[in-house]
Amino acid sequence: MTIRVHKLAKELGISSKELIEKLHKLKVDVKGHMSALDDDTAALVKGELGAKPKPRPLETKGGTKAKPKKRAKRSPEPVEGRAKRSPEPVEKQSPELVEGEEIVEEEPPKKDLKILKVDFPIAVKDLAVKLQIKPNELIKRLLGKKILVTINQGLNEENAGSIAEEFGYGLKRLPSKEELLVADHDIVDASKLKPRAPIVTFMGHVDHGKTSLLDMIRKTKVVDKEAGGITQHIGAYEVALKKGKVTFLDTPGHAAFTAMRARGANATDVVVLVVAADDGIMPQTIEAIDHAKAANVPIVVAINKIDKQNINIDKVKKQLAGIDLNPEDWGGKTITIGVSAKTGQGIDDLLELLILEAEMLELKADPDRPATGIVVEAELSKGKGPVATVLVSQGTLNIGDAIMAGLNYGKVKAMFDDKGHRVDSAGPAKPVEILGLSGVPFAGEKFYVVKDEKEARDIVIVRRMEADKKKLEAGSQKITLEDLYNKIQAGEFKELKIILKADVQGSLEAIKDSLLKLSTDEVRLSVIHGQVGNVNESDVMLASASNAVILGFHVAMTPNAKALAKQEGVDVRSYNIIYEAVNDVKAAMEGMLEPVTEETFLGRADVKQVFKVSKVGIVAGCYVSKGSIPRNAVCKLIRGKDIVFKGKISSLKHVKDDIKEAREGFECGISLGIKDIKKGDAIEAIEIRTVARRLK
Ligand code: GDP
Repeated sequence: MTIRVHKLAKELGISSKELIEKLHKLKVDVKGHMSALDDDTAALVKGELGAKPKPRPLETKGGTKAKPKKRAKRSPEPVEGRAKRSPEPVEKQSPELVEGEEIVEEEPPKKDLKILKVDFPIAVKDLAVKLQIKPNELIKRLLGKKILVTINQGLNEENAGSIAEEFGYGLKRLPSKEELLVADHDIVDASKLKPRAPIVTFMGHVDHGKTSLLDMIRKTKVVDKEAGGITQHIGAYEVALKKGKVTFLDTPGHAAFTAMRARGANATDVVVLVVAADDGIMPQTIEAIDHAKAANVPIVVAINKIDKQNINIDKVKKQLAGIDLNPEDWGGKTITIGVSAKTGQGIDDLLELLILEAEMLELKADPDRPATGIVVEAELSKGKGPVATVLVSQGTLNIGDAIMAGLNYGKVKAMFDDKGHRVDSAGPAKPVEILGLSGVPFAGEKFYVVKDEKEARDIVIVRRMEADKKKLEAGSQKITLEDLYNKIQAGEFKELKIILKADVQGSLEAIKDSLLKLSTDEVRLSVIHGQVGNVNESDVMLASASNAVILGFHVAMTPNAKALAKQEGVDVRSYNIIYEAVNDVKAAMEGMLEPVTEETFLGRADVKQVFKVSKVGIVAGCYVSKGSIPRNAVCKLIRGKDIVFKGKISSLKHVKDDIKEAREGFECGISLGIKDIKKGDAIEAIEIRTVARRLK
């Protein structure tokens, strides 16, 4: 058996980085978090970190095959998975080792499978060579499993694995180019780390002065006097002070912040929470705090507009103390500072504070290595093609570097800093705009410098294929109440994060209290954001980024949020009775929740006449007597008391024009793609939703 570094790290409750350092100390040569360790090594590390150390010789690769007494926790590696459900092995002599092929004896759960390392998809002829059989024989055997392939066709992991097993072999996927690349970039040489600037985002309630503060800082600290005071807007800018630099992300607000996080990047080191002294804590202030907390980013509070008359800073501080952000001068831990975006008062202090905070956080990076970083924003520029503002996290980005970001790749053709100057290189935390990508990446996507453009393209091609595949299984990765139980059982899930929206504060508190009481030893419940109001896009983004479910109580969902939830695969549920919400979560935790479908009535159309139209077929001339009939709705054709047909509309017209919806009081022509429609029938449009099963 082997186990990957990141898996073992998880088992041991430490980070991959810590484990790699530990392994290096033990003189075990590992490249990164995807590297595989054999059982002996894993046992040794476990001994070192956990129970009594077992002194054993170190062997990482091709070492002795001493079988460990106890198998480590089952890792979901393909070989094991297949072995579990495979039939008895077919008698077959072990083929000789293929030259250069690395064969590792491992202990499978039921029988001895020899492990071959291969790349997927694997062509039938290549697999035949590895299994030392004739391709025709392999094709025949595959046919026996109802897998019809030609000699050059590729087999996926599942099919190749199941057939290999019949020959006594397990297949192990070689790490992909991307995994190797990421693992390579993940190794950090601690001795080369140098301090870097903090990356700061302004968040807070609308009109509290986020934009004004960013503008004021840029105007007074960044503007290039020689260039005539015009700054380039590139999505981020850098401020240089005597004691160091600070980088500001120029997209204030938590929506942008969380959208980036949902793409996998947490660019921000410090959140400056802007609270207007004359307004105090407002709903979006709370929302911003929840977003920052979910991302585990420290918060510094800037109490803005202190130039105004009749303000009460102490009142704001008191409010802060009430929401778990107790100010330092009140004995708490939260740094607060009074500022004015109008007069500039307090801004130098704020900047200094951010540098101090950076020192405390020990933000460091190694500038002497190929760069990796984050896309802050990107767009298609008419003259320049795709342009992306990026922030380097590690290394230095140079003109001419081959890079890939998301599903795009290219070569850095030109780079500009926040003042619009051409630059040749950019080190850690320096924002630059780059030209040369093949397309526009998403904000928050990571970029990597790779060996050359070909390698970048190769990796991106695989990524695109995987992205297409994922699109097909859209949303399956996000947690839903339905799959909660299985995940808990599999030990994959330790915390259920909930976003709670309700119509009134009282209900919010009541549901929150009852939900928190459901926490068990296996799974902890936490409400990462709770607020009065409809479910909006920002809630969905937060749920997506944090893998949370959204529970709405007596609230609606904005149409944009609905579309986004569908796209992101976020589970949103609405309730009208508190105990139903609580019971559903409880049932989900106990594996008692099964989805049921619920029909919502959308509209009714009465069939007044039936026509036969060439090419279209039978069209029912209708009058919409109630609600509306949307083009993409599911319809029931009702005759008397019977439902004679249920299915999608195949065409919806008004006179001769295709329409998206037929409203109440209007006439329309509906075709259902069937012949059996009669005058006097009714067509009812419905929406079918999957909802949680209610417990009695
Ligand atoms: P945002 O929505 O948080 O980005 O807020 P804005 O920066 O757009 O500011 C909202 C309003 O407050 C604008 O009319 C600003 O001129 C005003 N404002 C912002 N900061 C200050 C300040 O420090 N003092 C005063 N008096 N007004 C401010």
